[in-house]
Amino acid sequence: MDRSFHESLPTRMTTLIGIDLGTTNSLVAVFTDAGPQLIPNSLGEMLTPSAVGYGDDGALLVGRASKYRLLTHPALTAARFKRYMGTNHEMVLGKKSFRAEELSSFVLRSLRADAEAFLGHEVDAAVISVPAYFNDIQRKATITAAEFAGLKVNRLINEPTAAALAYGLQDRQGESTFLVVDLGGGTFDVSILEMFSGVMEVRASAGDAFLGGEDFTDALATELGRQLGVKPEDVSREDGARLRALAERMKVQLTEAAEASADFALKGEARRVTITREKFDEITDPILKRLRLPIQRAISDASLKADDLHRIITVGGATRMASVRALVTRLFKRFPEYSIDPDHVVALGAAVQAGLAARHKALDDVVMTDVCPFTLGFETSIQVGEGKYEPGHFTPMIERNTVVPVSKADVVAPLYPTQHEILFRIFQGESPYVKDNILIGTLNVPLRGGPKDDKSVELRYTYDTSGVLEVEATPTATKKTERLVIEGNPGSLPREEIEKRLKALAAMKIHPRDQQENAALIARMRAAFENSLGDKRASVGRLIAEFEGVMARQNPREIAEARRNIEAIIGNFERDDVF
Ligand code: ADP
Ligand code: MG
Repeated sequence: MDRSFHESLPTRMTTLIGIDLGTTNSLVAVFTDAGPQLIPNSLGEMLTPSAVGYGDDGALLVGRASKYRLLTHPALTAARFKRYMGTNHEMVLGKKSFRAEELSSFVLRSLRADAEAFLGHEVDAAVISVPAYFNDIQRKATITAAEFAGLKVNRLINEPTAAALAYGLQDRQGESTFLVVDLGGGTFDVSILEMFSGVMEVRASAGDAFLGGEDFTDALATELGRQLGVKPEDVSREDGARLRALAERMKVQLTEAAEASADFALKGEARRVTITREKFDEITDPILKRLRLPIQRAISDASLKADDLHRIITVGGATRMASVRALVTRLFKRFPEYSIDPDHVVALGAAVQAGLAARHKALDDVVMTDVCPFTLGFETSIQVGEGKYEPGHFTPMIERNTVVPVSKADVVAPLYPTQHEILFRIFQGESPYVKDNILIGTLNVPLRGGPKDDKSVELRYTYDTSGVLEVEATPTATKKTERLVIEGNPGSLPREEIEKRLKALAAMKIHPRDQQENAALIARMRAAFENSLGDKRASVGRLIAEFEGVMARQNPREIAEARRNIEAIIGNFERDDVF
């Protein structure tokens, strides 16, 4: 870190930070006079693995140490929890179970501490990026995660929009239309943006909130299991974690090489597995095919043709895969750009948004507008005969790719004049039938008066720049808005529960920041120990003992030197690990 960099930081003590909360990795950045800058974590790294777990002392470890411990202590460690955002699924860590909001909050807490250490003052607000295709429940869950981490969300920014902001800033006087393809660990987003003299407009977004690089890893793990004669779901938790880690490593190797092989230890014996790029492409072809639809939909929603796009930008680690690059090249008949590191670009863009929100003078001429990527509406009944009505139909209120913020109202009447209430069921999706769409929540509006009174209700949908929806219903007769916020989301926490969990989380012990490097090295050595056999394993065992001895002497200089030496040796060992 150089000095001039520090001096260029904003002096206001309320710095807004930009956070990319990823499925696999998370990053934090800040906007400075010199533009968006990434903030390193306590290991000096920009990428913090989104992995959380209990260390040996019962304190929580976040990041690299936990990523290694996934192999050695799978029952005490959790990762890939972003996939469960907005669901009631809980992951078990030791004796406790946690929701995705809670696990994510530990990552956010760690990023916040990194930012505070870097900036030298407290941070309590952030711009956080989310997949464009995250639904309302997933967005609200992200805001709850931030609240658990003591962070106020200034705004949620869509990940491809953030990426486009980072790219747009480089060429802000230019005029162009670009398409951003973001394939991360667990989510896929496509957005089309138009830019002219600093004004950036999202024209369309589409995606799949359940499609990512991890699906390619899962497919490969299944194939490796087949070669070994085991099913991933039938092996022990430890073996399963090792098999998946091996699949992850081989998948990355196949990005560069035409073939990958490795040894896998099964029942004390090293067994060889081999996979060619061709075979890998064959088994992952069904996943690859799912990328086409959102791309086509974004282009047609923006009323464009592939030739109208000036730039194709790829973001997200999984766009490094040869098959993904080939697909994008084939679809657009040109090579995609990735001049900004695909791992960094979303966090940099989130920091630009933080700079915009703070009205940073360097961003005077920059304006950004975004859209709502899906249709929002409610369930209605339609008349199918004399006095016969059929429920289950979807009536849109805000159509997909409407510019946000937006507020729309409609007057709705009850089916029967004798009704005492109207139940609004709020849905998101593109199907004419609610059963194929996502239920976001329900709103029950009591109706006053007799059969002759006006029982119509004004229904208003307000969708803000964070992509969060609020629904209000006001009976015409009383003019009294009965309910303000959607209630009863199947995947979200009621307010009292949030308060209760907030207290419990605040009381949890977190591993000290200044000891994270040692914890990460020990976790790494243990993983190397499990992944090796024979002499090498004995050597790793000696290194562990040596490092523990050095730590016991508590001399910081000696510890740092031992860490450097051991890291070099372990790095060599890892290259030919047996998994
Ligand atoms: P997220 O934003 O969801 O955390 P990232 O953008 O960090 O995701 O991408 C993570 C995904 O990219 C993982 O599935 C990882 O395996 C994959 N990935 C990263 N590097 C490579 C590579 N060189 N080859 C293939 N896949 C990669
Ligand atoms: Mg990402």
